[in-house]
Amino acid sequence: MRPQKNLCMIAMSLAMVSAARAAPLVEPTLHIRPEASGAGRVALTLDACGGQTDNRILSALVENKIPATIFVTGIWLKRNAAAVEIMRAHPELFELENHGGHHIPAVDTPQKIYGIRSAGSPDAVLAEVQSGAAALAGTGEPAPKWFRGATAEYSPSAIAMIRKLGFKIAGFSINGDGGSLLGAKETARRIAAAKDGDVIISHINQPTHAAGEGVVQGLLALKAKGLTFVRLDDAEGVGNNGTTD
Ligand SMILES: [Zn+2]
Repeated sequence: MRPQKNLCMIAMSLAMVSAARAAPLVEPTLHIRPEASGAGRVALTLDACGGQTDNRILSALVENKIPATIFVTGIWLKRNAAAVEIMRAHPELFELENHGGHHIPAVDTPQKIYGIRSAGSPDAVLAEVQSGAAALAGTGEPAPKWFRGATAEYSPSAIAMIRKLGFKIAGFSINGDGGSLLGAKETARRIAAAKDGDVIISHINQPTHAAGEGVVQGLLALKAKGLTFVRLDDAEGVGNNGTTD
């Protein structure tokens, strides 16, 4: 075997070993402390990944005084100034948090998650988290305290890195809209099933999807049952996989 070929084979087997050793991705959960008395309370979190604003959801939140934590990317902030204005006009309802600068999954090894290319390195994860925070700071918003990566999946080492930057990582306990791909009826059913202490995730950036209609219906059903809504900053969120402790 020629030395060059030998080196090449060593490199290949090293790559295979490191791929095999890469820790599996985690999708952390998050719960808020249950209310114990009363009908219960839940936290509504809505991702604004990119694209537009679902005004069906935004106006329903304002009209019904439902507080929400909105995870925004730098991309979305740039394209949705009117929606940001509405959110800023209701600081009692909306808390804006960090969904990354460019909607790149916070996974520090190269791979695809739901078809989206991961950050791929520790430096790239860092850049995604910090550019998201910088984009929020640029709009005059308070500094974000929570981070949620694109796809809500992480490598454990990325979680440790993001925690070191001072962010808590926002998992969830109810996947309300299945990435905004579910129908209105199923979305409404999932959200309406939320119980005391649940953290709901859905999307506020897909105005043409049926799921948005279901988000509104589900939230109104919860409100009718007497549940109250809190934002992540106003609740003690407890997540697994080292995301909050
Ligand atoms: Zn997203």
